[in-house]
Amino acid sequence: MSPLIIALDYPDLSPMLSLVACLDPSLCRVKVGKELFTRFGPDVVRRLHSMGFEVFLDLKFHDIPHTVAQAVDAAASLGVWMVNVHASGGRAMMVAARHALDQQRYPTLLTAVTVLTSMEADDLQEVGLNVTPLQQVLRLGNLAMAAGMDGLVCSAREASALRSSLGERALLVTPGIRLASSAPDDQKRTLTPQEALKAGSSYLVVGRPVTQAANPALALEKLVQSLVV
Ligand code: C5P
Repeated sequence: MSPLIIALDYPDLSPMLSLVACLDPSLCRVKVGKELFTRFGPDVVRRLHSMGFEVFLDLKFHDIPHTVAQAVDAAASLGVWMVNVHASGGRAMMVAARHALDQQRYPTLLTAVTVLTSMEADDLQEVGLNVTPLQQVLRLGNLAMAAGMDGLVCSAREASALRSSLGERALLVTPGIRLASSAPDDQKRTLTPQEALKAGSSYLVVGRPVTQAANPALALEKLVQSLVV
């Protein structure tokens, strides 16, 4: 299995199903986010599982500890491969989520988002945080790992600093991946798959370079090949 996770960002079911029908589940995992899940619910996950895909359920839970623990339990009971929370929900929330998985012996991986990459220093200041984004990423990254997370969702640009700070045991899941030949879309600072792995990424989230490709199977194959060159 490659480290690639294809982001299924679709407003509708049928184009998403046409896309995944072109993809080989032995070459990639898939990510279901808030849009698809809110419109179509857990059936989307069940359908992807029945097609042989492992699913990262990217719902970024953030609430009181009990609620997040129950939501993480609900996700794991669907059999998803990975689920995530916001590290800014705090230690008790993350510990409760970890406990919910451990109690039922679910193998689901649990990751935490540190700082949304859409937030810059000014945005942090506005919510009362007088630190740089990277300082906050490192602070929350360390807290998340201390609270029992399996890893973090972070910008590939932050991966090397997090890898140095956290060591090898943290899984780092990174979006913003583009082949040198593909359009950046609205991503501002992209890395190639190879650069991201070199920076310490464990899993690479790729959306539009595959989902909007004329030939998605070929686009996936090219990404897989770019990892072994
Ligand atoms: O199409 P693209 O490859 O840009 O999609 C990247 C995926 O990763 C999308 O689902 C996007 O929401 C997600 N993501 C991101 N940047 C972050 C966090 C998540 O692009 N910082």
